[in-house]
This record gives sequence, C-alpha cells and structure tokens, in this order.
Amino acid sequence: MNRTATVKSPSVGFVSLGCPKALVDSERIITELKLRGYEIAPGYQAADLVVVNTCGFIDSAIDESLDAIGEALDQNGRVIVTGCLGANPQRILERHPKVLKVTGPHATAQVLEAVNEHLPQPHDPFIDLLPPQGIRLTPRHYAYLKISEGCNNKCSFCIIPALRGKLASRPLDEVLFEAEKLVASGVKELLVISQDTSAYGSDIRYQPVSWRGQQLESRFIDLARSLGSLGVWVRLHYVYPYPHVDAVIPLMAERVVLPYLDIPFQHGSPTVLKRMRRPAHAENTLQRIAAWRRDCPDLTLRSTFIVGFPGETEAEFEELLQWLDAAQLDRVGAFKYSPVAGATANDLADHVPAEVMESRYERFMEKAATISAARLARRVGSNCRVLIDRIEDGVAIARSEGDAPDIDGVVRIAKARGLRAGEFAEVKIEGADAYDLAARVVTN
Ligand code: SF4
Repeated sequence: MNRTATVKSPSVGFVSLGCPKALVDSERIITELKLRGYEIAPGYQAADLVVVNTCGFIDSAIDESLDAIGEALDQNGRVIVTGCLGANPQRILERHPKVLKVTGPHATAQVLEAVNEHLPQPHDPFIDLLPPQGIRLTPRHYAYLKISEGCNNKCSFCIIPALRGKLASRPLDEVLFEAEKLVASGVKELLVISQDTSAYGSDIRYQPVSWRGQQLESRFIDLARSLGSLGVWVRLHYVYPYPHVDAVIPLMAERVVLPYLDIPFQHGSPTVLKRMRRPAHAENTLQRIAAWRRDCPDLTLRSTFIVGFPGETEAEFEELLQWLDAAQLDRVGAFKYSPVAGATANDLADHVPAEVMESRYERFMEKAATISAARLARRVGSNCRVLIDRIEDGVAIARSEGDAPDIDGVVRIAKARGLRAGEFAEVKIEGADAYDLAARVVTN
C-alpha cells in the first residue's frame, strides 16, 4: 500500500512577517509542525488553517500584520495569530474577532497547542519525514542563529522589551549543538541574532557548559570563538559598543569570525542618544571604532540610525552628520522616526515636523551613500572570497565578508559559468558603485 497516497496530512498555511528574529520563530514553529506530521501548504486555499506570525515594531508593521490577518481570514477563514503584535491581543481581536487564537512572540508551544486544538494532529509515524536540521526559511547555505530572546534595555523608542520580555539567553551548549546541526546540513554562514548580542549570557550568569570536551561559559567571547571553530562564516549582528566587545576584534583579524560588526548606533549626538536611552550611549564610539580599525583594518561596520527623533535640533542633526563623517561606516540604513504605541519617546517634547524629517533623511542618506561609494571604490583591484547566493540570467549574485544577506550590498560576477549557489569563489573586484561591487572569478 502506498501510505502517502492514502493518509492525508492536515495542512497549515504560514505567513511570516517581521525581522530575522521573527523568522527564526517561524522556522521553529514550522519545524515542530512538520515533526508532528503537518504539511505546510503553499497557499491559503490548500491550507486547513493558517498561522500568521506578526510584527508589532512600528505602526506600518502593525498595519501590515493586521492586513495579513484579514487576508488570511478572507481567503481561508481559520487563522491563528502569533508574534510581536500578539502581545497585544486586544488590538487584533478588535479588528478581527474571528481569529481562533492569539499568542505572543516566542510562543512555539502555545501555537502548537492551538493548532492541535483546531486541527488535531495525525498520529502516523510514516509521515514524520523531518530532516535532522529542521525546516528553515532561508536558502540552504546560510541560517540565522538566535542566541537569546528579549532585552534588558529601555530604549525610549522601542517596545520590544514589553513585547518580548527580559533578556533570556540560551545556554551556549544548546546554541552550539544547533549550530553544529546547521553546519552538518550544509550551512556555510551562520548569522548570529538577538536583541542585544553583546549582553549574551548576562542573565544566566554566564552559565558554564561543556562542549566537545571544553569547559566554556555562556558569554559573548566564548560564543564567538566556539562558533568560529565550526569552519563556516560567522557574522555577528546587533552588537553594542561595550568595552568587552573589543575582545572579539582579534578573532576577526584572525578570521575566526567574519570581520563584520552590525551595531545599531541610532545616532551620533550624545544628547539625542541620552534621550533615546541607548545602551552604551556614554561610550566614546569614535575612539572605539578607530581602535577596532587599527587592530582589524578590513573590518566592515554596518549600522542603522533614526533621523528626526523627538527634540532633534538642527545642531544635533549636524552632529550626527559630522559623527558619520568621522566614523566612515561601510553600510548604513536609516529610519525616519515614527511613534510606536506604548513607547515612552512619544511623550517627549518637540516632535520634528514631517518635512524637516524628510529633508534630514535625504541629507543623511546622501552622505551615507557618498561614504559607502568611497569605501567600496577602495576595494577595486583587490581579491576576496565570496559566497554565491544565486545565479540570475548568467550573473552570479554573491556576497563578500562585508555583506550580510538582504541588508547589505552584493558582488555581481558577470561570467558565472561553473559557479553554483551556496559555494564559495575567489574573485577580483573590478568595479564599484554606491552599494554593490562587480567582480570576476580569479583563475589559478
Ligand atoms: S536594545 Fe533598545 S532598541 Fe534594541 S530591543 Fe532592546 S530596548 Fe529595543
């Protein structure tokens, strides 16, 4: 008997919105659903029920999440909601009273319970076909590795601590076992994510663990060193410029981990940073950046900024531009300040008018693009290693050590013959624009 033809597995549709941290939650839920024998449906019509993983970070994300729930209800009718917006169930139920269940973020167990209640799981060992590394939503060759949940900071523009709770780090051995499984499944690049990577382990008193016969502590530097020993690219995101972060720079210079730091500086004016209540706002970041670059000259620094934060004066904005000039960051993204319901920054005086915010945003992005273009131009003529993400019309779209997927630039290799997605290649950089590089393969 062909069992797959006779046993129909219940099918769950999945909509995943939000940041990489939400994506990891989605991967966990999907992995667990597959473990329990559910199929993941390609669309609403084929699904018996739909799970929507929402984002509640800023108002536009909330609107997008509410619209996605509405669409799932229209097209399918049976919807379970999870994710950041789910921390505020009233907001969802007011607009969509027919949803079956609402859970908050990082609630895999509750989502599974709700799915099981509304779509009872099959008990058939023959449909348990989960690969050992679980189900991932990223391409096969890179994966996000979430090391902690929540955050102990109190940035005035952010409600993530209210949505996701206090910092809860995963013990290092648990993180490393997951990383080993990912590498064994073919992952070539691990992207470490959390809300505050530099705070990793502080909530669990740097719990001692044993891994591969070594005694380690669940702390930032041991995390970096041991992930770096797995033989794949390791990229660190959401790091704050605390003094203890300096210790990772030599590991970058030795290529134990990638010479890449994603630090959300958010502003360059100390007074704005203070109003933002940013972690490490009192640190002299320019001095720190200079020291890092001295010890690791090819370090790539990426960051995000908010322009038009309440009370931002022209002088403070000029300070930000001067800071950016001095910092010479490689990769920069910016947001115009947008009030998030529940954030304390909403109560600050002197909100910046929309047209002023728009003009500051443009001035900021223009400067960032000029800096980026100059820094990329310096790489023309050099050789580097790239990881190929995909081939499009005979062109390989790849990334160098300095490019994280989706948020940074790419390296385009015109003659892609013989190149394959998920493989490394040695290339010579032959051209650069404001954000991307052009290269050719180096043949020996
Ligand atoms: S560090 Fe600040 S912005 Fe980031 S999650 Fe924590 S409170 Fe929010």
